[in-house]
Amino acid sequence: MIEYPRLALFLGGRWAGPENRDHEPVFNPASGEVLGEVPHATDADLDEALDAASRGFETWRRVSPVERGQVLQRAAALMLERREQLATLITLELGKPIAEARAEVEQAAGIFTWNAEEGRRAYGRVIPPRTPGLLQLAMREPLGPIAAFASWNAPLITPSRKISSALAAGCSVVLKASEETPAVALALAQILQDSGLPQGVLSVVFGDPKQISERLIGADLIRGITFTGSTAIGKQLAGLAVRGAKRLTLELGGHAPVVIFGDVDPDKVAQAAVAAKYRNAGQVCTSPTRFYVHRSIHDRFVERFAELAAAIKVGDGLDPATRMGPLANPRRLAAMGQIVDDARARRVDVRAGGEPIDGKGYFYRPTLLAGVDETSLVSNVEPFGPIAATSPFDSIDDAVRLCNRLPIGLASYVMTNDSRNAGVMTEAIAAGNVIVNHWQASLPETPFGGIRDSGMGLEGGIEGLQAFQTVKYVSQSTIPSY
Ligand code: NAD
Repeated sequence: MIEYPRLALFLGGRWAGPENRDHEPVFNPASGEVLGEVPHATDADLDEALDAASRGFETWRRVSPVERGQVLQRAAALMLERREQLATLITLELGKPIAEARAEVEQAAGIFTWNAEEGRRAYGRVIPPRTPGLLQLAMREPLGPIAAFASWNAPLITPSRKISSALAAGCSVVLKASEETPAVALALAQILQDSGLPQGVLSVVFGDPKQISERLIGADLIRGITFTGSTAIGKQLAGLAVRGAKRLTLELGGHAPVVIFGDVDPDKVAQAAVAAKYRNAGQVCTSPTRFYVHRSIHDRFVERFAELAAAIKVGDGLDPATRMGPLANPRRLAAMGQIVDDARARRVDVRAGGEPIDGKGYFYRPTLLAGVDETSLVSNVEPFGPIAATSPFDSIDDAVRLCNRLPIGLASYVMTNDSRNAGVMTEAIAAGNVIVNHWQASLPETPFGGIRDSGMGLEGGIEGLQAFQTVKYVSQSTIPSY
């Protein structure tokens, strides 16, 4: 068992502890116990981080992409070397089962590796001139210092996506990680320091989110903002970014539909769906939630799904037998209660779970609400927790309408053996991604992002790197005309 570390701010390479600063407790969601105290950055701390980002950018932008890649590769290797330490911190702070936490470390290392390599392929273009003697170039350059805001639900992957693509592009970063999962973010900062990242290039801060976002986004030198979190906060930050004419990437809420056609085996799909739904206790922006199931197999799907959901072993994520951990915080417990109360008031069939688990920690039972209608709260608000809902559908037009009726569009899933169904759905669903016959919505090398209220811009793939680059056009005449 590792020891929970003393928490600090990481100001361009300097560690600053909670002494003489406001601080707040960090809780273990499996027990409700206090793990440590996370310091709140003062305005002076934020200015120190911004100064560091300014100096760090001037250094880092001049480092060759090959050398930047070497630092990121070392970081990926250290992440794997420290897998147990990182995974344990993830489970302690967030609650997810240790096997899922280990997988998160491996995925995060994979993201670093991808960006380490992709930074070297930041190709520009040579544009054929209209007249002889002209050389016309579109060159990719680093955007500038970045303010990054990461949520708690993927405490290693989300900062890794933002930091590794910004660093690969040659940018410096000030990260505000979640106050609920600070040790994971700090362990990543330590890894980058140990990997040879120059002083100043990265800072990690915590504190009052509003104060931090206003000061960082309002600083002239910050050129790009990347945020993962709720739609409401994302829109607030968008306002600040637009006022400063700054580049923005927003990764916001989802409420993923899953369309299950009558030509599939409902038992097999239910088994895979339960595994996908209750991963990280459903606290995933791509979590499958609105199950639209063809009427011919709806009841069988519900029966099997409910059996399997009820059999999930819920407990402390550090216990290797646990299949689902606690929710991350009491806000999520309250949100689950509200959704289920609304369903009960409408006489919805609560087929599994539907209640918290008595005792210590923020535990809630894996829940299935069967046969919900469009007015139910669960049909309209992303649960971001262990609640799935089903509704039967009759026609493909009906399924398309149900998928697209909310103003969000992040992940979506289609299960069918009929290529016509797959073709119609992939074209018709308004979402950032459509996943057919499996559940893997993102990989380091694939673009990921939402449309409408689910956000703007992309992370991952070549697009993730381009989010932190700007294009400079150069036109050079070999026949001077002056
Ligand atoms: P929240 O909106 O209070 O916070 C989300 C994140 O934004 C947190 O990390 C928080 O510290 C940060 N934040 C809050 N105010 C901020 C500000 N003014 N400036 C900068 N950062 C700020 O939500 P929550 O209670 O943590 O989660 C609730 C909802 O958020 C969920 O229901 C889900 O829809 C959404 N969410 C989405 C994702 C995602 O991956 N897209 C991740 C986490 C939460």
